[in-house]
Amino acid sequence: MPTIVRSKNPTPRGAATVAKPTNGIQTVMNFANGKWVASHSTDYLPVMDPSIGQQIANVPLSTPQDVDDAVRSAQKAFPEWSSTPIKERVQVFYRYKTLFERHAEELAALVHQENGKTMSESMAEVEKSVEVTEFACSMPQLVAGEILEVSRSVECRIDRVPLGVVVSITPFNFPNMVPNWTIPNALVLGNTMILKPSEQVPLSALRIAELLKEAGLPDGVFNIVHGGQAAVEAICDHPGIQAISFVGSTRVAKAVYVRATSHLKRALCLGGAKNHLIVLPDAHEEMTATNVAASMSGCAGQRCMAASAMVAVGAVDHIVKRLCDEARKIVPGKSLGAVISKSAKERIERYITEAERDGAKVLVDGRNAVVEGKEEGYYVGPTVIDYVRPDMKIAQEEVFGPVLSITRAETVDEAISIENSSPYGNAASVYTQSGGLANYVVERASAGMIGVNIGVPVPREPFSFGGWNESKFGSGDITGKSSIEFWTKLKKTTTKWNPEAKVNWMS
Ligand code: NAD
Repeated sequence: MPTIVRSKNPTPRGAATVAKPTNGIQTVMNFANGKWVASHSTDYLPVMDPSIGQQIANVPLSTPQDVDDAVRSAQKAFPEWSSTPIKERVQVFYRYKTLFERHAEELAALVHQENGKTMSESMAEVEKSVEVTEFACSMPQLVAGEILEVSRSVECRIDRVPLGVVVSITPFNFPNMVPNWTIPNALVLGNTMILKPSEQVPLSALRIAELLKEAGLPDGVFNIVHGGQAAVEAICDHPGIQAISFVGSTRVAKAVYVRATSHLKRALCLGGAKNHLIVLPDAHEEMTATNVAASMSGCAGQRCMAASAMVAVGAVDHIVKRLCDEARKIVPGKSLGAVISKSAKERIERYITEAERDGAKVLVDGRNAVVEGKEEGYYVGPTVIDYVRPDMKIAQEEVFGPVLSITRAETVDEAISIENSSPYGNAASVYTQSGGLANYVVERASAGMIGVNIGVPVPREPFSFGGWNESKFGSGDITGKSSIEFWTKLKKTTTKWNPEAKVNWMS
């Protein structure tokens, strides 16, 4: 955790810019009523560029007063926005999508700067934001209500109505995409929102707010509160907030779910992951090796869908060897980005060292990676560790770095039981050329998203995203059609206009 800086001279409240330089470093602002506002806090954290290890901004640790200001802004905007017809609301998001496409390079550069992932990975993240926005634009087609004459002259109709003020709390690993998992869907459906971005990557959220405003979103419909634990707890406790979606680690997801629901809020909290890839002896060598290597190293392994545990079944040494060859081709600073912080780099390297000490064999070693010209950057090279036993810490915990641990199994049933014993359940994959064996694993794997010869089995819209077990708390999924349930409630209206119709017990 970086040191908190207590500023004697915080950015003045009400300043009209996104960020005001303090000693050359910008201080990010909260966003409410369509304006940039400084936090009431005097506590700030540094925001770092992980590729070069240099500070690029300060972020305020917002207070309960800041949360309350944002709630008031969103409450004020709700009556007008929620009563705007959905076909009008969606127009804002057609324009938002166009603006996103127009500014894609710049948005990707911002992700690269604050998160450290490569430019091509950053661009892919922006493209995914466009895809979820396209899905949101199809909402009018998906949420038409139902109507039926249920007895003579009596009709019942069902409408989906928004919840009110909702909150989206997001992690560091996708500063652009994860906020957009929730913003377009929740707002098109008529809610007003507060985004609480990760304090490690607050900058993309600022550009999102600017583009929403440029797209014509009315003031107060979208708001931002920066900060960490104190802001999140104030959000969970605030009586003016109806629903909270959360994406982050399992420890915090659980705490937020418990606290939010204890205040009778609707909550959907996505947590961490330990995704198992089961490789069978008949798997296609090249396809499997390149796919697994890409899955474990993409976004420096900081994806909740990353392959982190491979279960090698039977005679697959040829695939392990090829996988190591592929991993060695991945170059930190070029095809592999930085991890988020110095402490993340130290944590990841500690996992590797402990696994080696406990008897595992490091086949490809990414410790002590240094990138020329970016010596202060937080890099960990691709790492493959063989002969990891299921009881080792590295086999059980989320490492969240470009590290693949391989556990050997004799049979497919043993491999499935290793996968099933993980407390997580985000994703799992099987590599085989046999449809029957693939199906056998798909039916038995205990995860919400399953891949067959695919290492990152992210469902694309309109299919929904969400794991099982300790990877998600709450019902339904966060994207796709499932998100409609989360962001709306049903209003059932029964109507009779014809006085001549006979009265029966229901009329
Ligand atoms: P994190 O849990 O540390 O932080 C997530 C959010 O919670 C941030 O906005 C942060 O400010 C806030 N927060 C942090 N500590 C808190 C506390 N004690 N109380 C209240 N709020 C707190 O997660 P992270 O490190 O930013 O992100 C990485 C994690 O997110 C990984 O575990 C990864 O697997 C997970 N993740 C999951 C998914 C998914 O879809 N399941 C997607 C992306 C990331």
